[in-house]
Amino acid sequence: MGARGVILLGPPGAGKGTQAERISKDYGLVHISTGDMLRDAVARGTSLGRQAKRFMDAGELAPDEVVAGIVAERLAESAPGQGFLLDGFPRSLSQAEALDEALADSGRSVDLALSIQVPEEELVRRLTGRRLCADCARPYHVEFGPPQVADRCDQCGGRLYQRSDDTEETVRNRLAVYRDQTEPLNGYYRSRGVLAGIDGTGRPDEVYARIRRSLDRVQGSEPGQPA
Ligand code: ADP
Ligand code: ADP
Ligand code: ZN
Repeated sequence: MGARGVILLGPPGAGKGTQAERISKDYGLVHISTGDMLRDAVARGTSLGRQAKRFMDAGELAPDEVVAGIVAERLAESAPGQGFLLDGFPRSLSQAEALDEALADSGRSVDLALSIQVPEEELVRRLTGRRLCADCARPYHVEFGPPQVADRCDQCGGRLYQRSDDTEETVRNRLAVYRDQTEPLNGYYRSRGVLAGIDGTGRPDEVYARIRRSLDRVQGSEPGQPA
């Protein structure tokens, strides 16, 4: 019942990964992050990783067919009744269309698109100070969200590292790619009546409270009704 198919929209650094962890735990949704899946493929040196690496290094999107394929595979592995939370996908209109097709196969759909908004200069500060756990991919920030023990993950004790694409230059390009290719998705989901704009400024728990209000509105509705 309610919101079983949720996607997170919003620019790099908006807080999608930070919020996804809480949402997936509290609402029992499978968290699918294409960025995490691609970084894992690069680290393992798989053919997918080799295809995606140069795009990621440059802050460009990896090819739609490559990314849409891994998402469709992951969705097909989960039970049809299992709710999902997509983080970082779709990122282009062609990916949004591929997602609709993959979901229709199992009678699922996107019930809610949470579009997290944060001003550009704040995004640059968040991304250039970001650190990630090498083991569980949880995000931290040197200033806005440091770990309890220096360089160690609060959750699993893993070592923290800085992504090689979280440099100011690559960040600026990723933001331009976002405006160009991903932002139009807001209109795509608005026209379906499932878009919820979320103010992403303030503390993570303040942002999460706003997200909960949107999710709970959909939870209360009948399946198939617009948000
Ligand atoms: P995204 O997945 O959208 O790229 P992340 O969740 O990785 O974004 O967050 C980007 C960076 O900003 C991380 O370093 C994270 O710790 C930090 N961050 C997330 N939410 C907030 C917030 N509300 N205020 C300040 N910093 C935040
Ligand atoms: P962020 O939210 O900080 O920009 P992600 O971890 O979501 O970063 O993505 C990192 C990189 O992985 C992107 O810059 C892009 O190269 C690639 N990537 C992730 N998701 C997608 C996607 N849906 N389509 C194409 N490329 C993607
Ligand atoms: Zn960890």
